[in-house]
Amino acid sequence: MFSLKEYITPSSLEEAYELLNKNKNNVILGGLLWLKMGNKNYNMGIDLSKLGLDTIIETEPQIEVGCMTTLRQIETSSVLNTCFDGIVSASVKNIVGVQFRNCATVGGSVYSRFGFSDLLTALLALDCYVHMHKGGIIPLEKFIKMPYEKDILIKIIIKKDGSRASYKSCRMTATDFPILAVALSRCNSSWKIAVGARPNKAALAAKASKLLPENPTKEDIASACETVTSELHFGTNLRGSAEYRKELAKVLVKRGVEEICR
Ligand SMILES: Cc1cc2nc3c(=O)[nH]c(=O)nc-3n(C[C@H](O)[C@H](O)[C@H](O)COP(=O)(O)OP(=O)(O)OC[C@H]3O[C@@H](n4cnc5c(N)ncnc54)[C@H](O)[C@@H]3O)c2cc1C
Repeated sequence: MFSLKEYITPSSLEEAYELLNKNKNNVILGGLLWLKMGNKNYNMGIDLSKLGLDTIIETEPQIEVGCMTTLRQIETSSVLNTCFDGIVSASVKNIVGVQFRNCATVGGSVYSRFGFSDLLTALLALDCYVHMHKGGIIPLEKFIKMPYEKDILIKIIIKKDGSRASYKSCRMTATDFPILAVALSRCNSSWKIAVGARPNKAALAAKASKLLPENPTKEDIASACETVTSELHFGTNLRGSAEYRKELAKVLVKRGVEEICR
């Protein structure tokens, strides 16, 4: 079990950021579900729950999801169940169980950039940004590749570009970590294919995405599926081999494209 010498609920983001950077062992607390798996001794735990960052706000151009929003709020949000064919909500539905999703936060999930992240895979297929306190607004694709800096993720921003989308994952059992996660979107005639749990962090298959026209033929889909497996790296871990993941990727991408074109 991890430990904290001190626990604090700051009254502003500026105060939280100053405290975070005061000591290298100070840490931001999300829902604590990942942190509690470790055994590190932290100096100060900084809880953002008094800052009103647990909302999902829809405006005309975008949807903003605060960092303290729980995965359960995402799952049940009428906005996120409607926009982008509900892929953001769909992506979190298999994560452990309802009690768990009532605690796990968007901030902890996105900041951590886990290789197995369902949410990150779904968001990567959309026009999504993270708003960092010091780093400002950063495209998610860039943020995923950045080093872990001591900053606070305030919210994520998803642009409402009218994309059609699909999310698919394969798991050994319903609530296990995914063996592979695939998210696709089509905005006008432009496609995005994101593949996560390879088991590396989610990445976009840019070449394969470009092979898909607005209404792809069977041949277009087959060639995009092959390209996904050649342009992205697939690895082996206890959940599956690289070869198995490649086969899964072809199936899940095909199903996703067909779903969007239906
Ligand atoms: C047993 C188990 C099974 C899981 N299964 C899955 C799964 O199948 N699919 C999946 O996608 N995910 C899975 N997860 C991950 C889970 O969904 C969450 O992503 C994870 O628990 C982190 O969220 P949290 O709120 O608990 O973060 P915490 O544990 O509180 O924090 C995690 C990290 O993020 C940092 N952090 C938190 N909030 C912020 C912020 N606002 N700004 C900057 N840094 C911040 C913390 O300092 C810490 O370093 C699993 C986790 C566990 C423990």
